Amino acid sequence: MSLKGAIDTHVHSGPDVRARKTTSYELARAAREAGMRAIVLKNHHCSTVPLAAALSEALPGILVRGGLVLNRPAGGWNAEAVEAALKMGAAEIWMPTLSAENERAFRGYPGTGMRALDEKGRLLPELIAIIRLVAKAGAVLGTGHLSPEETCAVAALAREEGVRSILVTHPEINFIAMPVETQRRLLGRGLYFERCFCRAGFHRDWSGLARDIRGAGFESTILATDLGQPDNPHPVEGLEQFAERMRSEGFSAEEIERMTVANPAVALGLE
Ligand SMILES: [Zn+2]
Repeated sequence: MSLKGAIDTHVHSGPDVRARKTTSYELARAAREAGMRAIVLKNHHCSTVPLAAALSEALPGILVRGGLVLNRPAGGWNAEAVEAALKMGAAEIWMPTLSAENERAFRGYPGTGMRALDEKGRLLPELIAIIRLVAKAGAVLGTGHLSPEETCAVAALAREEGVRSILVTHPEINFIAMPVETQRRLLGRGLYFERCFCRAGFHRDWSGLARDIRGAGFESTILATDLGQPDNPHPVEGLEQFAERMRSEGFSAEEIERMTVANPAVALGLE
């Protein structure tokens, strides 16, 4: 399937703390070669904003955007780091991933991670300030590796504060496993489920993923890869395979275009 105009809103490349399949430069070149419109570089440990800006300038014809994940290397719930990243042009601010209590508890390290809610179930004041900054900048808010409960609370406030786009990061990964009923409750303007390339560690296979998309609606789905791991397919090939898999699951070419081209463009404010 052609990737003309496609956008991958979630991809990992080097330099990184972990080994990666490609460098960011190689990845951006491959995406341009495939006719893609844009990629969003994600790094769990540092801002990708300056790197993305340099690649966009060096490689006319492909838009490379970056952002910041609020893990401990970024200072956790650090509004100053968010403000700086947004001023430098961050497309997306992600909630914690590797530092999230939700993921750490799942992996057997309970009590060592970052939570979005206090003991009474209220959003942390630092997080409220961050959501307001994202809203003001017109950037995307990604829900990272928060639990479904935390994700719902963050999405509700983000809406209230006028955040333009909310991307619910891979709701099908095993430590999130957001039920489709919860996904349906979250539906609304500007909210997208960023469904990623199926692999080990996901609680859905391709058919299950297709069922989730039908359950919540392709109108609110973005197909992204979250690829870049050395043992998985190259991210550009992965996005193509993802589209083909969904085609064999019965989605029409128009529906796939909506999920790979149109929805991510609207989410990123490129229309
Ligand atoms: Zn990722």
